[in-house]
Amino acid sequence: AEMFGQLTSGFETAWNKLRGVDVLTKENIAEPMRDIRRALLEADVSLPVVRRFVQSVTDRAIGADLIRGVRPDQQLVKIVHDELVQLMGGEVSDLVFAKSGPTVILLAGLQGVGKTTVCAKLAFYLKKLGKSCMLVACDVYRPAAIDQLKILGEQVGVPVHSEGTDVKPSQIARNGVEEAKKKNIDVIVIDTAGRLQIDKAMMDELKEVKQVVNPTEVLLVVDAMTGQEAAALVTTFNIEIGITGAILTKLDGDSRGGAALSVKEVSGKPIKLVGRGERMDDLELFYPERMAGRILG
Ligand code: GDP
Repeated sequence: AEMFGQLTSGFETAWNKLRGVDVLTKENIAEPMRDIRRALLEADVSLPVVRRFVQSVTDRAIGADLIRGVRPDQQLVKIVHDELVQLMGGEVSDLVFAKSGPTVILLAGLQGVGKTTVCAKLAFYLKKLGKSCMLVACDVYRPAAIDQLKILGEQVGVPVHSEGTDVKPSQIARNGVEEAKKKNIDVIVIDTAGRLQIDKAMMDELKEVKQVVNPTEVLLVVDAMTGQEAAALVTTFNIEIGITGAILTKLDGDSRGGAALSVKEVSGKPIKLVGRGERMDDLELFYPERMAGRILG
């Protein structure tokens, strides 16, 4: 299924009900707003987010000045567009780089979300920005993850610092940063262990790594397929370890869009990057404006 396809057609149902009306009123937008609400819930957007969204669109629609030459249904499309952009954080959130010394990016996330893949994609992305990069393998519980990182690192042409599975992640991270400094590397991306569920051991380990390397960015990698759960996940990681943003992966899958629409509003943290495939070059910045455009078809 085309991502957002359902959302797009749900919204169309709403606009169609406004064909031929002269002006938006509380009465004539009631039913279209129910369609919008239903479409958002079916797209797996978090309920409190849906409520607030519907309320602010309704308020603006009723209070809207009639713009000459713009049909009422088109006015509602415009209001929904603007509110969607706001919902997703408004502006694009660029990656932040350290003012001096290497930039350290710590990646966190549950197992299987695409964290290791993102490490390599991020390295590829940074290389395109003209920055040298090094990956650090701190997932010491899965030897396969270390091997995978090495293979991907080679594929995108960046060095991978690894010390096997017997050294503590915080020590590997510290050594990795030291090595990168010696080699004058611009950005260090640290891959950490994920688990199937959030647990204390994982959080403690992340906190320790974070404390040791003092990262500029702490990015939570989230699978877009988790829908509204994504927002709760970002909130929890933010409270536990303090994150600077999220990376949404698997946007090419049949995610219904709930994660993209809920994360910022629920957690207060922006989605900074999105991944939409298994190729190394498909990681890109998250543009709320473009995403809103895609949703509205
Ligand atoms: P990790 O356990 O979080 O390190 O996850 P991996 O990086 O090993 O990825 C898990 C699986 O998801 C792999 O089969 C990846 O190829 C796949 N994957 C990662 N990112 C994406 C994405 O954006 N789209 C799709 N379709 N698959 C992805």
